[in-house]
Amino acid sequence: MIMARVAVVTGGTRGIGEAIARGLQAEGVTVVANYAGDVERARAFTEETGMHAFRWDVGDHEACFHNCVDIAACYGPIDILVNNAGITRDGTLHNMSFDDWNEVMRINLGGCFNMAKACFPGMRERGWGRIINIGSINGQAGQYGQVNYAAAKSGIHGFTKALAQEGAKFGVTVNAIAPGYVDTDMVAAVPAPVLEKIVARIPVGRLGHAAEIARGAVFLASDEAAFITGSTMSINGGQHMY
Ligand code: NDP
Repeated sequence: MIMARVAVVTGGTRGIGEAIARGLQAEGVTVVANYAGDVERARAFTEETGMHAFRWDVGDHEACFHNCVDIAACYGPIDILVNNAGITRDGTLHNMSFDDWNEVMRINLGGCFNMAKACFPGMRERGWGRIINIGSINGQAGQYGQVNYAAAKSGIHGFTKALAQEGAKFGVTVNAIAPGYVDTDMVAAVPAPVLEKIVARIPVGRLGHAAEIARGAVFLASDEAAFITGSTMSINGGQHMY
């Protein structure tokens, strides 16, 4: 159990983030979810789970700071940060615009920096904290048509290892999860023939489920995971082993 803690899960109203929010809530954590703009999904999430959802762009440095201050004022200091929000803007380098590159870096990697800046100092002062960054198999192995996404996710893995070194002596662990292909809206956007080829390369023979990623995150957020920091948990059905 992880009772009496407060968590923020970015991109927590659907997909992997929603599963993580629900998983933490089941352990007794007070969870606040963040989202970007899908108000209907956020409303349904709050109605179903009772968890509150705050709308802001994690790529906006000031918005991250102000919303974290508001959340702490309403619910108490943020003990657990799950940097899950992410987007894709796929295309070969040949076709990728600077905007496609920049948006993915700004949200996927910049979001981790912005949220850590807002939450890490308090965790450090209180001597306990958990930061869990959602990377990707494609940040580990690369992926055709994703130089922006692979670079941002690979950056998340480096960010995790560097911040883990800063947090270790203050009781703040920083870890990453690198999911393989998971059956969320993001993967539903992949054309069916491409997806078939991807599934054929997954040794367990199927896509992952969001709840399977959430179990890893809930464990990393627990007291029992205090000796794990700077690590990457790969949850990918055996698709990439190293
Ligand atoms: P989804 O596209 O299903 O959900 C994304 C969530 O992030 C939504 O809640 C969305 O809000 C939110 N979001 C997007 N942009 C922003 C932003 N700028 N500010 C705040 N919130 C934002 O994604 P998944 O659940 O599939 O993926 C979650 C994470 O896991 C991502 O980081 C992704 O890269 C990573 N991942 C996913 C894999 C997969 O196979 N699905 C594999 C490997 C990694 P809204 O609903 O308002 O749009």
